[in-house]
Formats: sequence, C-alpha cells, structure tokens
Amino acid sequence: MNSSPQSDGLDRRQFLNKLGGGALAFSAFLAACKGKQAAQAPSHKPAGDVPTDRMTYRINPKTGDKVSLLGYGAMRLPRLSKEHSPSGKGNEIDQEETNRLIDYAIAHGVNYFDTSPRYCEGLSEAALGIALSRHPRDKFFVSTKLSNQTEPSQEASLAIYRRSMELLKVDTFDYYMIHAVGDFATYKKRYLDNGMLDFMLKEREAGRIRNLGWSFHGKKEFFDYMMFESGVKWDFVLIQLNYFDWDITQDKGRSNVDARYQYEVLEKLKVPALIMEPLLGGRLASPNHVAQALMKQTNPDASFASWAFRFAGSFPDVLTVLSGMSYMEHLQDNLRTYSPLVPLSDKEQQMLVGVAKTMLEFKNINCTNCQYCMPCPYGVNIPGLFMHYNKCLNEGNFPSQAQDQNYRQARQAFLLGMDRSVPKLRQANHCIGCGKCVPACPQGIAIPRELRKIDQFVEQLKRNR
Ligand code: SF4
Ligand code: SF4
Repeated sequence: MNSSPQSDGLDRRQFLNKLGGGALAFSAFLAACKGKQAAQAPSHKPAGDVPTDRMTYRINPKTGDKVSLLGYGAMRLPRLSKEHSPSGKGNEIDQEETNRLIDYAIAHGVNYFDTSPRYCEGLSEAALGIALSRHPRDKFFVSTKLSNQTEPSQEASLAIYRRSMELLKVDTFDYYMIHAVGDFATYKKRYLDNGMLDFMLKEREAGRIRNLGWSFHGKKEFFDYMMFESGVKWDFVLIQLNYFDWDITQDKGRSNVDARYQYEVLEKLKVPALIMEPLLGGRLASPNHVAQALMKQTNPDASFASWAFRFAGSFPDVLTVLSGMSYMEHLQDNLRTYSPLVPLSDKEQQMLVGVAKTMLEFKNINCTNCQYCMPCPYGVNIPGLFMHYNKCLNEGNFPSQAQDQNYRQARQAFLLGMDRSVPKLRQANHCIGCGKCVPACPQGIAIPRELRKIDQFVEQLKRNR
C-alpha cells in the first residue's frame, strides 16, 4: 500500500473533496440511515472452510523471520464460567479452550504469539506458555513485554523479565518490548534510571532477546525522541493502527499522534511495524449502523472486522497484525481475511474514510477496552460503562431528545442495559474523581469527566419518565 496522501485516498478532506457533489449524497445517506435506522445486517456470512496453507507471511528484514500476518494477541484469552471454576469465583483462564484456539491457529499458519505480564490480570503468560509448549519451539515466535508500570525498580523489573521466561517456558524471546511508553518521564523512570534498557541491550547481544522494540501510545515528540534521538537501534515498534486512527486524530481532539505519521517514519527508517488495536478494542467489529450500511453496500459478504484487518494488513512494512481472539469464530474470520490477504482497492479505502467519518459523527468515547485503568479503587467498571454507552450510540437507539418518537423505548433500553452489563455498585455515580485511572489510559481519555457525563445523563433519563 502506498501511504502517500496523493495515492492512498485516505485523507479525509481529500476524500470529501473527491466526493464533491457526492458529499451531499453521503450526508443524505447518513441522514436517511439515522432517520429510519438502517437494517442491522448480520455481521458476516456463515463460515466456510478455513484454508490451512494460504496464510500471508511477511519477512523480518533483520532476522529473516517469516512471520504470519495474523498475530495472536493473548490479552483476551477465554475464561471459565463460575460453575466450571475450581475456586468457584470464575474468571480463571479456560486452559482447554486456550489450547484449542492456539492449536487451531498454528494449524492454520499463525506463528506469532504476543502476551504481557499484565494481560488477563497477570494470567496470560502462564496460559500461553502451557499452550505453546505443546508445540515444537521452531513453530512459533513468542513476544512479551517488560510491563513494570507498577514496579519500576531494577530488582522488580529483573524478576518480571525472568518470570516471563519461566512462564512462557522459553530460553529466548523472539520479540521483547518496552511496554506502553508515551512520554520521556515514564521512559526514564521505567527503563533508564533503573538500568533496564542497558540490561535488555545486553540480553539482545547475548541472543536471549532476538528483536528488541517498544510499544507506543503517545505524543509525536516522544515518538520522534525514540526513533531519532534515543541512540538505540530498534528492531521493531508496536503501534496502534486502524482506519479510524490513521490520520484524523486531530478531529477527535486527542493528543496521541496519528498512525499515518508513525507508520511513515517506520517505513522511511525501514523498521518493521507491528500493529495493535486493528479493531480499536472491538469497536470496528461492531461500528455504528450507518457505517455498517456503508460496508454492506460495498460487500454484503465481508465481516465488519475483515475490513479493519485488510486495512492494517495492506501496508507492506507491517510485519504482523495482533488480534486478541477469545472465540473460535473470530479466529476463523481473521484467518480467512489473511489466507491470503487481498489488499484494499482505492475505492474500498475511500469507503473506509467514509466509515471513519460516521464514527466522528457518532461521538463515541475512544475506549479500546484494554483494561489498563482497572481496577478502580472505588469499584467503578470504567470500560464496561464506556462500552455500554458506545453500544447504545452505535445501534442508533440512543435516548437523546425527550420528544423523539422512540425516546421512551430507547430510555428504557439504555437504563436496563446498563444495569445488566454493569452492577449498580460499579456504575458511574461511584466515581469520586480521584483521577488515579487517568495516567493509565493509553488513549488519553479524561475518564472522570466522561464518567461524570454518563452519570448526569443517567440521572436525566431517570428524571424524564
Ligand atoms: S477517577 Fe473515578 S474511575 Fe478513576 S480511579 Fe478514581 S474513582 Fe475510579
Ligand atoms: S478507559 Fe482507557 S485504559 Fe480504560 S479500558 Fe478504556 S482505553 Fe483502556
């Protein structure tokens, strides 16, 4: 994919200009969909066979690793229900199902597996280690991170590093990362002052880290520092890239730098890009109903998620696209998308710009459900509340004006749905605004402010009987 604004058709303003008179048609389309609620087409066609030998691979220019374009992210491994849980509390990893998913992924050509000591409340590495250790070591690349956010001392960081090796049952990390840095002060505290960067560089020299990189959410200045001034030759960078974050960040009023800028720097410096959040925490798999109609109009058989995966995979310097897959159905859909990848046409890219535009109109909260802000000391289920709010907005069933025809129905659905998805004790009115969660959010969401807005909205709905 050529990423220049002239050729890729992904510049929003250019897209609207290109539409010309078509922009009016697009607005009319948007209005029509809003007015009569576009039919909710099924998310995708029923599953056919999943090919075992057609996966698209990319080559790591440094090591020659032949990496599957679909990477398995172990951040949302399947969980046991309460009745099957040995402790009776539920929420433990379902190891049997995890093994089944990993086996299936490997049998269908996936060879990149990513985890972190923080994923699944600290349970991911052990579960992935068990699943992968049942396969020959040369069948997979394993990647994890120095997630020392809460314990940055050298002693604690070294313990994290060694424990990852132990849990993953490996003696080398194929890909190892500085985890989620976005500003210099954090980087200094977690990796420079404690000597951990020096340690990791020595581990790379010794061959125990085959590729050293970092995962990034943050501002341009820090991205530039890491790429141009840090004095380290990075083997890769894990960036957030999807069609919503590509180049319209400014319009969203967010501080994180656009994916386009990051990708273009990496492309220029010939540093492989690894991709996270291709689905924006699942939001692109169930976008608003107007976006759904646009996608179905272009190809009624394609799943919503497949558009996002094709977008991310179409960039040639992308080594792998990570997806946190909890269900076989999702794994199969993603396998089909990349077996093999069919790069997006210009027309399809333009359609996705239109989809991104509808997302701006719907004013979702930019939560990716990463859970980094959790647990809240006051028990608030932050992502659960944001997810419910976004879901109601996207379904076009949002109680905004008391005089709207469907207000009563939408009001009831919002309030009942909220109680069903988030217990009362964990709702927005329990946020005391302490701000503890704010620095943890890689998307830069003003969490207490958004929660206050949701709380006020709920109160208003309750009053408007
Ligand atoms: S600001 Fe609210 S949601 Fe965030 S940690 Fe404090 S109480 Fe919890
Ligand atoms: S609010 Fe931020 S940190 Fe919390 S789940 Fe959403 S994106 Fe992640």
